[in-house]
Amino acid sequence: MEHKGHNYVPWRKVTGWKCIRCGRCCREYIVSVSYSEALMLSLKYNAPIVKMSNKYYLMPRVDGRCPFLTYIGPIAYCKIYYERPTVCRLYPFYVSKKPTYGRANEAEFEYHNETFYVYIDSLCLGVNKAKNIKDVAEFYVYLWSRYTKVS
Ligand code: SF4
Ligand code: SF4
Repeated sequence: MEHKGHNYVPWRKVTGWKCIRCGRCCREYIVSVSYSEALMLSLKYNAPIVKMSNKYYLMPRVDGRCPFLTYIGPIAYCKIYYERPTVCRLYPFYVSKKPTYGRANEAEFEYHNETFYVYIDSLCLGVNKAKNIKDVAEFYVYLWSRYTKVS
């Protein structure tokens, strides 16, 4: 998701995370997509995609919400959950091989004899809603390694 107000803190600074389905991230952030995601979303769902500075974005509705966000009561649902873009799958974590957002000691994470730096967006309302940070941090290092070329 594009950095429009993220506040990344090292994983050691929070107790854990669980998505409470508030939908904040789907209302507040602009979703960046890869070329193949842009193609799939526009062909299959007629999604509004724009290209800016050689990057592709899923255009939000006028109220700022992602066009695929819906609610049943207070619970947020993604209408394309199983085909949602990679940035949506990886939010609210940020993983890198470098301490991009500082505080290297607190962000360091060893995974399969490699050092990663793991941060979480403290603005996500699911932060500190669980006590599982080591497990979720490890899972997101795995996801980032799988979905992105971590550098
Ligand atoms: S802001 Fe956090 S808790 Fe809310 S829907 Fe997004 S990931 Fe889940
Ligand atoms: S594609 Fe789905 S998960 Fe991603 S911002 Fe839109 S509603 Fe949220």
